[in-house]
Amino acid sequence: MIITKQKNVEELLRCVDSKPVFLIGCSQCATICHTGGKDEVIALKKAFETKKIPVSGWVILEPACHQMNDKRMLKDNAEELKKSEKILVLACGNGIQTIAGLIPEKEIIAGTDTLFLGEITHASEFHKRCIMCGECLLELYGGLCPVSQCPKSMLNGPCGGSSHGKCEINQQIECIWDRIIQNMKKRGTLQALSNIQQPKDWSKAGEMNRRI
Ligand code: SF4
Ligand code: SF4
Repeated sequence: MIITKQKNVEELLRCVDSKPVFLIGCSQCATICHTGGKDEVIALKKAFETKKIPVSGWVILEPACHQMNDKRMLKDNAEELKKSEKILVLACGNGIQTIAGLIPEKEIIAGTDTLFLGEITHASEFHKRCIMCGECLLELYGGLCPVSQCPKSMLNGPCGGSSHGKCEINQQIECIWDRIIQNMKKRGTLQALSNIQQPKDWSKAGEMNRRI
């Protein structure tokens, strides 16, 4: 799932600058993250109206990154959209760009920050799993990703700061390299780590205009 964090209301109020605004949420990831579902869109609408900012309408897209669904649902809201000067989107960066492409004549405001692909571990608790590097290396590390989960993206073992299973950058998080080694030891595959990995080819993460 794509994990997002809602920007704070004060920042959004500044961006909207008292202009009529139309609010857009997303029925999938942003709903599960509680950053852009119906509840959050309605809460933001109330916050704006309390500050006398006109909200011309709102919609929850299904989902915001689905261009064809968006076209249909935005058409149903054409009048409300016409009355707005700005569009505030509570979705991931992908959804926000889909809207920006469909409504180029309006100013688009990103209502969230997009963080990573994550696993849902508890309600409202997400663990970073993938940063979409373009060349998955999980088979080299027994299914655990040091590219996304090690703050230094170490590919050939832990840095010198790994201590008692914790990361030197943040003691609250585990050193993923400690887990990789423990797991591979248990499976008897530790020897595979002696193959030195070359620096990652980050150009693969930046392929532009890629269509699948
Ligand atoms: S190696 Fe790359 S694609 Fe695979 S999980 Fe890690 S960041 Fe994601
Ligand atoms: S302590 Fe472990 S997770 Fe943290 S930066 Fe070093 S190798 Fe990466």
